Amino acid sequence: MEQGLAGWVDDAAVLVWGLVLGSFLNVVAYRVPRGLSVVWPPSACPHCGGRLASRDLIPLFSFLWLRGRCRRCRAPISPLYPLGEALTALAFWLVWRRVGLSPELAVGWGLASLLVTATVADLRDRLIPNRVVATAAAFLGGCRLIVHPLPLEAYVWGAVAGFGTLYALNGLSLLVFRQEGIGGGDMKLMAAVGLAAGWQAVLLALAVGSLLGGAVAVLLLVTGKVRRRQYLPFGPMLAAGSLIAYLWGDRLIGWYLGWYM
Ligand SMILES: [Zn+2]
Repeated sequence: MEQGLAGWVDDAAVLVWGLVLGSFLNVVAYRVPRGLSVVWPPSACPHCGGRLASRDLIPLFSFLWLRGRCRRCRAPISPLYPLGEALTALAFWLVWRRVGLSPELAVGWGLASLLVTATVADLRDRLIPNRVVATAAAFLGGCRLIVHPLPLEAYVWGAVAGFGTLYALNGLSLLVFRQEGIGGGDMKLMAAVGLAAGWQAVLLALAVGSLLGGAVAVLLLVTGKVRRRQYLPFGPMLAAGSLIAYLWGDRLIGWYLGWYM
């Protein structure tokens, strides 16, 4: 009973921490591509310039409470903000449940932060900022020098496989369709994911991300939300595939091999 309550408090603390960090990652995703400082000035409503009050420390709750409008001028606020926060909280909680209080938590939360920031930036600006990926890759690579369940080469090959597979697919797209199929930001993102998760997980992430991307594209075409040849951001699909592969890759690969052998 005592144990159960303590576990619940831990879960709640992780979710709140994820929401708070998520609101910072939103700021990073918006400002880094614009060359703005991520620490100053504090977040403000783009319409009236009103600063967030301290009661808006977790803007997700304010967003729901104020039905997606600014407290001062009632201008609508982009749903990307609460989305980024909710995704960070969810990803942090899933990583926490998977690896617990261990050195691996630094890698898992670092990777989750990168994936959410890339998702929000790609949805908003259709790009994944180089500086965000480079910073995350330096952090994740540094962690892996110290904490590496697999041999170190597995992570180096992960970076090569993540970048190389998408680079090759893009080359194929140029050859067959005479147009770029995959952005450079996606390639660099998957290099960072491979560095954090290893070559097996990054290949699985690419497979899951492509399946998700295909499914979402078909769904959007069928429901008439998008037209053929319209740009669909691939980053969020790759990010979802990466988190799934990082969290449950061992089990998925085991299940897949068991199915065919
Ligand atoms: Zn306002």
